[in-house]
Amino acid sequence: MTRVIFLGPPGAGKGTQAKTLANDCNIPHISTGDILRQALTDQTPLGAKAQSFMDKGELVPDQLVEEMVQERLSLTDTNSGWILDGFPRTVNQAVFLEELLHKLNQHGEKVVNLEVPDEIVIARLLERGRKDDTEEVIRRRLEVYRSETAPLIDFYHSRHQLLCVNGNQSLEEVSAELKKVIAS
Ligand code: ADP
Repeated sequence: MTRVIFLGPPGAGKGTQAKTLANDCNIPHISTGDILRQALTDQTPLGAKAQSFMDKGELVPDQLVEEMVQERLSLTDTNSGWILDGFPRTVNQAVFLEELLHKLNQHGEKVVNLEVPDEIVIARLLERGRKDDTEEVIRRRLEVYRSETAPLIDFYHSRHQLLCVNGNQSLEEVSAELKKVIAS
């Protein structure tokens, strides 16, 4: 059973690694960023509520993403495992997730922190050129990461759930290290 939460700054390569791992394990890749971007494209009520936060590099309010994740993890394709990418992003979300996984009887998750130095992250994001990848928005997303999301490293470390992977290597090397760490 593979249940993995990916942590790491924006631009760490979470999305790419999460997608590959999900494919290899034949389990769903659940990216809150992807779900929110799809909601913007489809102009759903969720998209309308999330847009202004995403455009500025701010976090979407906890309650919105929590409902989204609860709905997604309740679908039957999660029975054989899942990869969470982009959630949790705040300690509140992490506490919510812990309770949700208990309720759904989906415990035993591993948490992988993908470590990449700041200057590499900024260079990668500028190269990527997504709509919310302007320099100002990137800077704000990194600030938000530091204040809101980085505390999750301690949160999961103190629960003995944290595994670390060096994200500053080639895609193949990261994938290989990731597989080794998850299997251990
Ligand atoms: P990146 O990892 O490159 O920052 P994501 O695709 O994970 O990008 O997220 C893009 C945006 O979606 C974030 O900047 C934020 O506004 C919103 N978002 C995604 N996941 C969450 C979450 N768990 N909580 C709050 N906002 C979120």
